Amino acid sequence: MKASRSLPVIMPNVANQRWSCHSCGNCCRTLVIHLSDEECKRIDRQGWEEKLGVVPYVYVGRARVLNKRSDGDCVFLDENTRCRIHTEYGEQSKPLACRVFPFSVRARRGGWQASLRFDCPSVVSSKGKPIGQHRPWLMQLVEVLDHRPPADDDGALLQRGVRATADEIDMVINRFARWLQSSDLTLADRLIGAARITTTLADTTLKKVRGPRFATLLGLLFNALPGECGGAPAAPTERQRGMLRQLVFAHAEHVTPAGMQAGLLSQVGKRWRQLRNARCFLKGRGRVPQLPGLAGEATFETVESVGPAIDHRRDIEDLLLRYLTARLEGRSVFGDGYYDWPVFDGLAALWLSLAAASWLARCGAASERESSVSVEDIGKALGMVDRAATRLPALGTMTERARVSYLLRDDGLARLIHGYSLPGGTP
Ligand code: SF4
Repeated sequence: MKASRSLPVIMPNVANQRWSCHSCGNCCRTLVIHLSDEECKRIDRQGWEEKLGVVPYVYVGRARVLNKRSDGDCVFLDENTRCRIHTEYGEQSKPLACRVFPFSVRARRGGWQASLRFDCPSVVSSKGKPIGQHRPWLMQLVEVLDHRPPADDDGALLQRGVRATADEIDMVINRFARWLQSSDLTLADRLIGAARITTTLADTTLKKVRGPRFATLLGLLFNALPGECGGAPAAPTERQRGMLRQLVFAHAEHVTPAGMQAGLLSQVGKRWRQLRNARCFLKGRGRVPQLPGLAGEATFETVESVGPAIDHRRDIEDLLLRYLTARLEGRSVFGDGYYDWPVFDGLAALWLSLAAASWLARCGAASERESSVSVEDIGKALGMVDRAATRLPALGTMTERARVSYLLRDDGLARLIHGYSLPGGTP
C-alpha cells in the first residue's frame, strides 16, 4: 500500500553534519542492492547483459539483487568508480536503493523519517553540503517509494505489555539527544550517564508511569545525572568482555549475493565456520579470525593492549556525537526503526554499538601494529557497525536481545563503554 505523498520528509537534526557523494565507490562494493520488478525490466530493456558480458542481476530465493564481480564490486561500477547506468542513462535510471543511499527513509507519524548511514566515508568525514539541503531531493524520491502507511507512533514498547505513545517516544528521543549535547560534561560522563539512565528505566515498572508522569520521571533522572554519573565504573568482567566480543562478531558479518546464493553444502560450511569463529570470539584468546573489511592479522591479546586515540580528540568526539545523534534523531534505535525492539533495549544496543565499534577500531589498529587507535580506525569501525545495525537479521534476534538484557545488569553498559574508551581520557 502506498502512503500519502503529501507528507514532509523529516531530516535528522544533526549539528555539523554534511554530505555529498564523492564517488569513492565504497557503497558499490559493500551494499547488496535489491531490485523491484520495474527496475529489473528497465535494466533488461537497456540491454546490460550484452554490454557487460555478465548477468546484471541474480536471484537470491525469490528476490533479485545487483550482481557483483569476483572482487566484490558491483558489475555496473566502471574503472573511474562511476556507475555505468548513471553515466549512460542518468541518475533517475539507477535502482532506488542506490539513489537514496546514504539516507534511508521510512514512514512515521506526520511524515517520512530520513536517517543517515555512516558506512559512507563522506558521512563519516562530514564532507559536502549540510544534510538539510538534501531534503528537496529526498522529497522527490519518496514519490516513488512503496511503503506501508505511517503508524501513529514508532510501534515501540516501553517494556513488555506497555506500548509507548508517540509523545513518550518524542520525550525519550529529545531527552537523550539533549543530554548527549551537554557541553559542560565530558563525553565520558555523558555516555556513562546515558547508559546508566537506560539501565534504570529498563528496570523500572512503567505501567502506571505514563504521559506527564513519565515526563516527570525522565526530568528527575536527567536532572540528577550530573552528580550521579561521576563515579567511574569498574572494569568489565571477563564474561561482559566475552559478550561484547560476540556482539562484535555479530556486527562484522558481511552479506554478499554470492553468499546468499550459495548451495546447501556451502551454507552448511559457512555456518560451521561461523560457529567456530563465534566460539573464538567468546574465548578471546589467540588469533582474531579474519573480519571482512579489516586487513592484516591481530590477536585478541594485542587488541586488548591497544590504547584509546591520543590525537584528534575533538574530531573523534564530533564524529561519535554525530553518529549517536543521527541514530536517535533518525529513529533507527527501537520499534519500527530497529527490529521492533522495546525502547530501552534498543537504547542499550545503541550504547553497546559504540563499545563494539571501539573494539573493532582497536582490532584495526592492532592489525597495523599500532599502539593506539586513529580517527581513521574509528571511522572505519563505525561504518562497519552502522552497516550492520538495522540491516543484519542476526542482530534483531532473541539471542541478541538476551545478550543486551544480560549486559543491562551489573552496570554492564557503563563498564564496557568505559573499558573500551575511544578518545584518550574519555570513552
Ligand atoms: S560511499 Fe558515499 S561517497 Fe562513496 S560513492 Fe557511495 S554515496 Fe558516494
